[in-house]
Amino acid sequence: MRAVLDEDINRDRQIMFSRCNIMFKLTPEQEERAKAVHGSSVVVDTHNDTILHLIRAPPFVGDGTGTLPSRRTLGERSQDGQIDIPRIKEGGVDCLLFAMYVSPLHRGRLRRLLQLLDAFHTELEANPETIALATNHDEIIAAVKAKKIAAVIAIEGGEPLEGDIGALRMAYRLGVRSLTLTHFPRNELGDGSGADSGSHLSEFGREVVGEMNRLGMLVDISHLNETGFWDVMELSEDPVLATHSNCKALCGHHRNLTDDQIKALAEKGGVMNLSFCAGFIKDGVGFGDPESIKKVTIEDWLDHLDHAVGLVGTDHVGLGSDLDGGCGFPGLDDVTKFPDLTRGMIYRGYADHDIKKILGANDLRVFKRVLK
Ligand SMILES: [Zn+2]
Repeated sequence: MRAVLDEDINRDRQIMFSRCNIMFKLTPEQEERAKAVHGSSVVVDTHNDTILHLIRAPPFVGDGTGTLPSRRTLGERSQDGQIDIPRIKEGGVDCLLFAMYVSPLHRGRLRRLLQLLDAFHTELEANPETIALATNHDEIIAAVKAKKIAAVIAIEGGEPLEGDIGALRMAYRLGVRSLTLTHFPRNELGDGSGADSGSHLSEFGREVVGEMNRLGMLVDISHLNETGFWDVMELSEDPVLATHSNCKALCGHHRNLTDDQIKALAEKGGVMNLSFCAGFIKDGVGFGDPESIKKVTIEDWLDHLDHAVGLVGTDHVGLGSDLDGGCGFPGLDDVTKFPDLTRGMIYRGYADHDIKKILGANDLRVFKRVLK
């Protein structure tokens, strides 16, 4: 385990600027460095909910007011939402995990998964010059070399498996490579952190983890309750990801990870990917509450990064935006803002090689080890 931050991290400067609560200013040389580091890195974002905005089969994602948002496509730049191909290119992001969330309220959960898969494959087929499905590390790298975006398909919450291990295998055969075991509620696999009864993973949950290890899929513990998390730590033969989680020591939301969890994830070789969800970054910020979200800044996000790096070093932290999933805040409100994270890391004194790891190399290491 790495002791603290690299010696080249300038802590004094961080304190000076974050106390005044102004956005960081870089010198012209630092700006050049930021451009060079970001441009030469394989930048990975391990979570977004964009597919939910692309699907044309109802029910749609609503904003709670009864007005339906306009449907978007992946290929066209939209005024709405946070991720599309032109904006991914602008943000210099190379590989994204596109998640499919299925509400437990759906009558046919597995059918909904198939609808989401159809919607996403259709979008990929419509944009063959700019984005490519990637199911393993080599395909990710091949896509990046061909100047295409590498799209990895994920399922958020085991609900659509409907308790059937064969559905997991079929999802794998249809290109899915990552599964977040639960969403907020309890499902057939275990308790989500939003319905934490202290339960262990169910028998089915244990079977799923074993089968995912066998198939070569990424086990994602974001959203899982803590008892279930420790079960996964014991069970999984492979490193595990938190695709979109933040530090509980800085923000007490039940979705966040304790210091012990972050250390255990790192000891297993995994990566904690920090989300842009304002409500998981600062205490007292309401999820989806536009007024309180304004209190959150990139500096607050960088505090989570510094905290995690302080615990486990720079080899086990990455980026998991959760954009298009109700997340983001002023200054970090769509995928074009990723370069500001690089600028922020330079401002906080991170070395170039550490920034490259955090931007994507850490996740790529896990992808290489796990994905078949
Ligand atoms: Zn989520």
